[in-house]
Amino acid sequence: GSFDAMGIREDLLRGIYGYGFEKPSAIQQRAVIPIITGRDVIAQAQSGTGKTSMISLSVCQVIETNVHEVQALILSPTRELATQTERVMQAVGNFMSVSVHACVGGKSIGEDIRKLESGVHVVSGTPGRVCDMIKRRTLRTRAIKLLVLDEADEMLSRGFKDQIYDVYRYLPPELQLAMHGIVTH
Ligand code: AMP
Repeated sequence: GSFDAMGIREDLLRGIYGYGFEKPSAIQQRAVIPIITGRDVIAQAQSGTGKTSMISLSVCQVIETNVHEVQALILSPTRELATQTERVMQAVGNFMSVSVHACVGGKSIGEDIRKLESGVHVVSGTPGRVCDMIKRRTLRTRAIKLLVLDEADEMLSRGFKDQIYDVYRYLPPELQLAMHGIVTH
C-alpha cells in the first residue's frame, strides 16, 4: 500500500511526505480509507503504531478549508494526547492551511475563546473543556460532521462517559463516528 493510492488530496500528501512518512503503517492502511470515505469506524491499535498520525491525516482529508467552521471534533483522554494530535495535524496539514485548536483544561479560557472565534476547522480536546466551550456557545457545533473518540476505552475508565454523552447531545444528527481503542491486554 501507498499513501498515493489512497485518494488523499495533493497538498496533504505533500505534508505527509514532508513529515517523513513514506508508506502507511498497518493501522493506517486499514483505517484511513474507511474514514475518508465517510464510514463509521471502530479500530483498535496499540500505542506507537501510527494511530495518532492516522487520525490526523484522516481528519485533514475530510476538512473543507474554505469553510471556516469546526468540522471535526477529536476527544482524547489526556491533555498530552489532545495536544500531540493537534501538533501532528498541523505538521501533516502544513501545506493545506488547516487550522487546529487544542481545547484542553489547564490552559487559559480567554485563549480558547479567542482562537475558537477566529474560526478553526478542527478541535482536538479533552471532554471537560470541550463540553464547557460548547455550553458557552464558543465552540459552535452545527458544521461538525466527524467525531473521533481517541482511546475511547481509556476515556471510559477515566470517568468521562457522562461528559462524552453531554458533548454528543450538541452534535448534528448526521454525524460520522470514528472510535479508537487501545489494546491493554
Ligand atoms: P503515532 O502512533 O501516530 O503517534 O506514531 C508513532 C510513531 O511512528 C511516531 O513517531 C510517528 O511519527 C511514527 N509514524 C506514524 N506513522 C508513520 C508512517 N506511516 N511512517 C513512518 N513513521 C510513522
